[in-house]
Amino acid sequence: RAKDAGGGTHFNYEPALHAHAEERRQLEFALRRALERNELLVHYQPVVSADTETVLSFEALLRWNSSEHGLVNPAKFVPLAEDTRLILPIGEWVLREACAEATRWPDHTKVAVNVSGEQLLDPHFASTVVSALAMTGLPARRLEIEVTESIFLRDATTARATLEQIMGLGCSIALDDFGTGYSSLDYLRKLRFSTIKVDRSFVQGAAQKNPESLAIIRAVVAMAESLGVTTTAEGVETESELDIVKALGCTKIQGFYFGRPMPPEDARLLFSPRFVERRRSGEAA
Ligand code: C2E
Ligand code: MG
Ligand code: MG
Ligand code: MG
Repeated sequence: RAKDAGGGTHFNYEPALHAHAEERRQLEFALRRALERNELLVHYQPVVSADTETVLSFEALLRWNSSEHGLVNPAKFVPLAEDTRLILPIGEWVLREACAEATRWPDHTKVAVNVSGEQLLDPHFASTVVSALAMTGLPARRLEIEVTESIFLRDATTARATLEQIMGLGCSIALDDFGTGYSSLDYLRKLRFSTIKVDRSFVQGAAQKNPESLAIIRAVVAMAESLGVTTTAEGVETESELDIVKALGCTKIQGFYFGRPMPPEDARLLFSPRFVERRRSGEAA
């Protein structure tokens, strides 16, 4: 029938578009029930000191084990949660879950929680943070909030004001995926970020001796040093990537080389006396 109508190209695309919309609708339906069905969980990925290679913090990373769709990747459901504003209740849950878990770690260890623009621009966000800290008893200085540059594209004034409120509580703020979005140096001047996270794409490029990647990491590290900000190299997978980011002066390292995102039980084990003892004596973990 499409051919008869003479609009072959137009009609040919329709089933694919329809399937996509239908898949999305089903995923959204399932996501609405994910919280109450306990299908969401948080995994934790260690961030280590470039100097001592000890664990400084863990990044909380959301996971969805859907009864209908199996394990769904955050790259797929986080944007959907943002579009539907489901990220507000989900994000509140992640915050509480991560703060509660962090109270079981040594007192110097921070937890970093990712926050979307939708959350940050929500008028209740700061009180959500306050109550997560109050309910769990986690000191504010142990909570880091990770934001990406994209939050400043929408309503930079509100985003900044909320971040300042959060910092006023004693939390720290990290700038995630630095260099991949709309990078303006203006907000680096106006907000006291504690950490700039250098995106994995630059780490990979640097290890492949890509001159642009090398130049960008050098510039970010130099800028961070003069601003008194630490730098985390994201997505370090190999020894050569580790060597290059250390040589370039990144202060913290995150990536599969030191540990994948892991269930809370496994993260806790990294602090167990036996594990620490094994590491000290140079045995493989
Ligand atoms: P992100 O905040 O940049 O998190 C780092 C991502 O890189 C994680 O992907 C992590 O698993 C992955 N990663 C870490 N080390 C390596 C490595 O060595 N190699 C490679 N190839 N990848 C590595 P994940 O867990 O799939 O999360 C993807 C994104 O979803 C996050 O990027 C973040 O933007 C978002 N996200 C995750 N959890 C939450 C959450 O609770 N709330 C919000 N709003 N967003 C979240
Ligand atoms: Mg992050
Ligand atoms: Mg990141
Ligand atoms: Mg990234």
